[in-house]
Amino acid sequence: MRPFHYAKPGSVAEAVRVLGANPDAEVIAGGTDLVTLLRDGVRAPNQLVDVNGLGLDRLAWQQDGGVHIGALCRNAVDDSRLRRAYPALVLALRSGASPQIRNRASFGGNLLQRTRCAYFRLPEFDCNKRAPGSGCAALTGDGAQTALFGASPSCVAVHPSDCAVALVALNAVVRVEGPSGVRRIPVEEFHVLPGDAPQRETVLRRDEVVVAIELPPAPPSHYLKFRDRTSFAFALVSAGVAVEVSGGVVRSARIVLGGVAPKPWRCGAAERELVGGPFTEASIAKAGDAATEGAKPRPGNEYKVELVRRVVRRALTELRNA
Ligand SMILES: Cc1cc2nc3c(=O)[nH]c(=O)nc-3n(C[C@H](O)[C@H](O)[C@H](O)COP(=O)(O)OP(=O)(O)OC[C@H]3O[C@@H](n4cnc5c(N)ncnc54)[C@H](O)[C@@H]3O)c2cc1C
Repeated sequence: MRPFHYAKPGSVAEAVRVLGANPDAEVIAGGTDLVTLLRDGVRAPNQLVDVNGLGLDRLAWQQDGGVHIGALCRNAVDDSRLRRAYPALVLALRSGASPQIRNRASFGGNLLQRTRCAYFRLPEFDCNKRAPGSGCAALTGDGAQTALFGASPSCVAVHPSDCAVALVALNAVVRVEGPSGVRRIPVEEFHVLPGDAPQRETVLRRDEVVVAIELPPAPPSHYLKFRDRTSFAFALVSAGVAVEVSGGVVRSARIVLGGVAPKPWRCGAAERELVGGPFTEASIAKAGDAATEGAKPRPGNEYKVELVRRVVRRALTELRNA
């Protein structure tokens, strides 16, 4: 591991200043992802900026029924109101990692965790995301975990966060603070597609700190994750769904996939199958089919297409029956 300096700022403004003064500095929160990347030689910042202890670890319920979750709140957060208001989020959090890791992992770090693509995590392989211009070993390697949607010739890796998928379904916003003040970015727009610059995964600037996630009041929601084993595994395919029904008609629907794209993948075509009609087995089946629209399977990941169809159907059916 390369030696590094350690800074423990006393305020967000100071953290922003330290980041701005050193282009090679990187934020550390729970360290559950970053420390493994440092250990394995994937990342080598010369300074870590510790954002623990800045008062960013609180839940603040809002008058409209929404909630602001501090970026340093841990993924083990257990709040009965959160469970009732945002079941998709709590299910997504509980489906991730292990209790020990969730006790340490933060919301900000979860959104910013790096891909689990094995070729990114192992420096002996070419990876445009780790070393821009070096190539993509995944293109000719094991394709089982690769993306169905949104990939590019430079990168076929998928985004790993469960929480981010639920947050997009719940229409959440990321609040960030930087040298020019506060920005509020819908989680849906926070992560970017790889194009020919896969090293850039989000719109966060290098001298900005994530300070909170803002959740507006949300309709009933659900999260379903399909994985190789029932715990301690990342999603092969997951779905976060939020559907508002009144008077027997679906008024709004948000359907978001995990494990299949470089960012949480919103299924507009599936949502359109539901909105304006009854929430029935038939409309759910159509939504499941529509969720596969635009999929571009690669050798090894073809199985994900049928999985998308089934996970979306089952997530919506479980939500309807809840
Ligand atoms: C064995 C294992 C299994 C896992 N399984 C799952 C899983 O199934 N599902 C899942 O979703 N996740 C899973 N994870 C990932 C885990 O959830 C993340 O490691 C964790 O959420 C990262 O949070 P952290 O606070 O530890 O971030 P860190 O490791 O401290 O940081 C991660 C990144 O975020 C940046 N960062 C952190 N906080 C901020 C901030 N406030 N502002 C700006 N930048 C910031 C850091 O600079 C770094 O680049 C797993 C992890 C492990 C080790």
